[in-house]
Amino acid sequence: MLDQYFEAQKRLYPQKIKGRFRRLKWILNSIFLSTYFLLPFARFNRGENVTNQALLIDLPNSRAYFFFIEIWPQEVYYLAGILIIAAVALFFVTSLFGRIWCGYACFQTVWTDIFIALERLFQGDRNDRILLDRKNNFQKFYKKFLTHASWIIVSILTGYAFTCYFNDAIPFTKNIFNGEINSSALGWILGIATSTYIMAGFAREHVCTYMCPYSRFQSAMFDNNTLIISYDKKRGEDRGKWRQGESFENRGHCIDCKQCVVVCPTGIDIRNGLQMECIACGLCVDACDNMMKKVGLPKGLIRYDTLAHLIDPIPAKKFKILKPHTFFYATILILVSGLMLRSLILKPTLEISVIPDRNPIFVKLSDGSIRNGYLLKIENKTHEKKVFSLKIFSPESAILKLQNGDLQHLEIAPDSVGNFKIFTILPLELVEKNEEGRSLVEFVIADDLESKKVSAVFISK
Ligand code: SF4
Ligand code: SF4
Repeated sequence: MLDQYFEAQKRLYPQKIKGRFRRLKWILNSIFLSTYFLLPFARFNRGENVTNQALLIDLPNSRAYFFFIEIWPQEVYYLAGILIIAAVALFFVTSLFGRIWCGYACFQTVWTDIFIALERLFQGDRNDRILLDRKNNFQKFYKKFLTHASWIIVSILTGYAFTCYFNDAIPFTKNIFNGEINSSALGWILGIATSTYIMAGFAREHVCTYMCPYSRFQSAMFDNNTLIISYDKKRGEDRGKWRQGESFENRGHCIDCKQCVVVCPTGIDIRNGLQMECIACGLCVDACDNMMKKVGLPKGLIRYDTLAHLIDPIPAKKFKILKPHTFFYATILILVSGLMLRSLILKPTLEISVIPDRNPIFVKLSDGSIRNGYLLKIENKTHEKKVFSLKIFSPESAILKLQNGDLQHLEIAPDSVGNFKIFTILPLELVEKNEEGRSLVEFVIADDLESKKVSAVFISK
């Protein structure tokens, strides 16, 4: 019944190809994979008693560390900023170069590429794999077993590396080798490993075609000057088979060898025009270039080109970086990144909040003066112990008291929040002057290095 909604998955056997884009993909794959697997082991000195892992999401202590940046739970708006930057950067790159993110950098593409390479290593290239799938013998079982075993190893390593971003990677790794791993970490490793195995081993191009929302709205960012994978119809048609020595006069340059189709990881024929399934990986460009070289024709029958240049192949219509779209996205990108960077660099290491008591709101004392209670929260975002003093700034005649402690010695441990119960008392004459029953009290919190003024509402009626 579901068949009417979903197309059955066709088994694809992408063929191995050599060429400049394939080379570029291998280089980028190596960079991305080594970054992913090695980054948790990078160290950054933040001082004593604090993790030196450069990138760590420390969930139990509610902190995220990225080199010199340290994010507290109440600063999750930085996460919103990072997501905005990532989205606009994606729009910016797509408006210029089409779906190169999908073709070269998306983790689905990178991991699928590795899984296909392993499949090829154990089962051979396209034709060998097609023949193997038709057989039912021990050789097939053995080759499939090796392929799946290698996929499972890569998947487990992927899950392990992912978990390292949430644990101190070095002791965590030692613990794994000693057989000491907690159930939550094990659950995450197995969860990520399973999804990697399914997504890169089986779902593959279906993730790009059916699951990824980006492929659906990418065309909104395209214009006639966006670089897309293009088949030059004017040059290629009328296509037809070609025999050695045959002239290309009065016919198109496409020899209908279908090399561009068999190397395509999503199994499409780009000669039918740009399609949603195309992830702009450039492998069909390599395949066609190789073929053009063999038959003695210029490369570029399939190439990265703009629609404007394809329709009107004059130099003026060639790919342009400077266009309104680009300016728009670049401006937003620079603005948001600039604001984020500024706020991260100038991030205060001391945050103070004064929360008034709700019950009772105020207390009338026997001499007619009024007392308000507050919870003073001091966040020490440094990695050293801090000792502050607290005094009243205005009104001068107000009296400040601390429950259990010395106002001159508010001690806060490194990287933590100090909570202090304080009381402010306004004498009767001040209370009587204030008919509204609401006024402001100001406090000064200071240590040897800095001082900060905070205010709070005082309620007397
Ligand atoms: S059509 Fe070409 S660029 Fe697009 S996905 Fe297939 S091989 Fe990659
Ligand atoms: S690889 Fe080039 S020549 Fe061969 S079918 Fe594709 S477009 Fe035509």
